[in-house]
Amino acid sequence: MPVTVIIGSQWGDEGKGKVVDLLSPSVDVVARYQGGANAGHTICWEDKTFVLHLVPSGIFHDGVTCVIGNGVVIDPVALMEEIDTIKSLGFGVDGRLLISHNAHLIMPYHKRVEAAIEEARDAGAIGTTGRGIGPAYVDKFARTGIRVVDLLDRDVLRKKLARSLEEKNALLRKVYGAETLDVDAIIEEYVEFDKRIDPFVTDTTAFLHNALAEGKTVLAEGAQGSLLDVDFGTYPFVTSSHPSAGGACTGLGIPPTSVNRVIAIVKAYSTRVGNGPFPTELDNEAGEKLRAVGHEFGATTGRPRRCGWLDIVALRYTSSINGFTELAVTKLDVLTGLEELAICTSYRVDGKVSERFPSDAQTLQTVEPIYEYLPGWTEDITGARSLSDLPGNARKYLERIEELMGVPVRLVSTGPKRSQTITVAGSAA
Ligand code: GDP
Repeated sequence: MPVTVIIGSQWGDEGKGKVVDLLSPSVDVVARYQGGANAGHTICWEDKTFVLHLVPSGIFHDGVTCVIGNGVVIDPVALMEEIDTIKSLGFGVDGRLLISHNAHLIMPYHKRVEAAIEEARDAGAIGTTGRGIGPAYVDKFARTGIRVVDLLDRDVLRKKLARSLEEKNALLRKVYGAETLDVDAIIEEYVEFDKRIDPFVTDTTAFLHNALAEGKTVLAEGAQGSLLDVDFGTYPFVTSSHPSAGGACTGLGIPPTSVNRVIAIVKAYSTRVGNGPFPTELDNEAGEKLRAVGHEFGATTGRPRRCGWLDIVALRYTSSINGFTELAVTKLDVLTGLEELAICTSYRVDGKVSERFPSDAQTLQTVEPIYEYLPGWTEDITGARSLSDLPGNARKYLERIEELMGVPVRLVSTGPKRSQTITVAGSAA
């Protein structure tokens, strides 16, 4: 029962899109299991760059069926735009894109409420992307959400919407002094949306069960990273869903026993968007170099990402939660030219050395990273196609990651293009 789960092992933006794109030709189904249109997966080939927010990156490969699972929250506007772009590039979506009837919809009031909350929080903002994803998940768990299936029956839709809007409008007006919304305008917009997505909507869980029963291979694709998981991340600076491997099961309806491979996407250094503790952050020239060379600006928001050294304490923690079976190290090329590289191997907490990752934000804020240093390299590695093409010090860096993690490195990415990839048959060491 071959399901492979691709996990962002850090705070997101690890380069999952490229790895999913690389693996897609060898699978039958690519299924997205959580998050919304806040994720930006960048795929580059033949000098073209595409950023996908909702549709799984496998859509660029004929013969691959792409699933948007029940765990995803769907912004109709973003989805329609994305489908139009994919079509305009000459790729078919009919029969290849399936949308779960149980997925929740992002409604206009989710965006408005999120903007109002974020504005009111001001300095204490958790740095949301303003796309209404958090409030949509809040409604999902409050059992007041509107799902794709609700679009089928206009009366049901109107009733649910009216009930929800009554509460949301009161909140907007009375608490935040923001503009309210009108039921009819929303119905009109979502009825149009329903007409367009109708051919794609299905019971995706049943589809996946059938696919697995037929021996088909499934790649489960998350968004963001494990350190942003609502339970296991640095709460409250987290996303509102489960990017961790467990999220693949609940966000698609597949059994844990169907997963036999969990690939960790590990950026060769660390980045984080928005607020929240970040022990290995570099507030210096090296950090600026990583940001500039690595183009560390959000694919969706354009926000500059905070940059820092690789944090093995955090990675071991995410490995323990996800059960990584292999590592894919990305953006190794960005480290080229740095004289010395640091890897954080433990923390000092209250004067004591600790290898434990305290995921609560208050404690993590106080830890001091303890580093081990490795020599850097100056050679351009973007043309490397095998480990032996890499300079010795780049190989040593990979070997050390592998040793510290106790998980083999099976893929190394040395540039954004598909061709700039090293696949490792054995281990890097
Ligand atoms: P994702 O959300 O995890 O898919 O990550 P993003 O797509 O937001 O960010 C990854 C960025 O790094 C994209 O612009 C990719 O094209 C780029 N990228 C991926 N792998 C590499 C790599 O090995 N080297 C460099 N320089 N860029 C890479």
